[in-house]
Amino acid sequence: MAVVNGVDPDEIRKLLDQKKHMEVFLSVCVSCGMCADSCFLYVNHNKDPSYMPSYKAVHSLGKMYRKKGKVTREELEEMKELVYKKCVLCTRCYCPVGISIPGMIAWARNICRSQGVFREYDERDSENIEMKQHV
Ligand code: SF4
Ligand code: SF4
Repeated sequence: MAVVNGVDPDEIRKLLDQKKHMEVFLSVCVSCGMCADSCFLYVNHNKDPSYMPSYKAVHSLGKMYRKKGKVTREELEEMKELVYKKCVLCTRCYCPVGISIPGMIAWARNICRSQGVFREYDERDSENIEMKQHV
């Protein structure tokens, strides 16, 4: 499949297939919310639901699996906030059924990076490098 609006769905699909077990993990998440109270970002943001560990995984990597990799650039840009700003991969979130939320968010970051969607300060760094190369 061709690159559409700067997104390569085949590459995303390939990366998703490398972590098939994560799709299974996502399917067994019962959205019980028990992981939420162990996430300091969720607690420190007045329990804003968008900071819940399960929300962050379901609306990033989960969305990529649901759409079989055919996400748009706009959707990847929306995920950027969740995977870079709303999780620091501290691994403190506890799930009684053993789902690793930080592992899934780290993989969602990897997929975002494969499509040129970076953390804002990484974007600034790459712009600075480009500017220096042109001086
Ligand atoms: S990740 Fe685990 S603790 Fe969190 S909502 Fe899903 S099943 Fe519940
Ligand atoms: S790894 Fe992310 S979701 Fe889990 S507790 Fe840390 S910041 Fe919260």
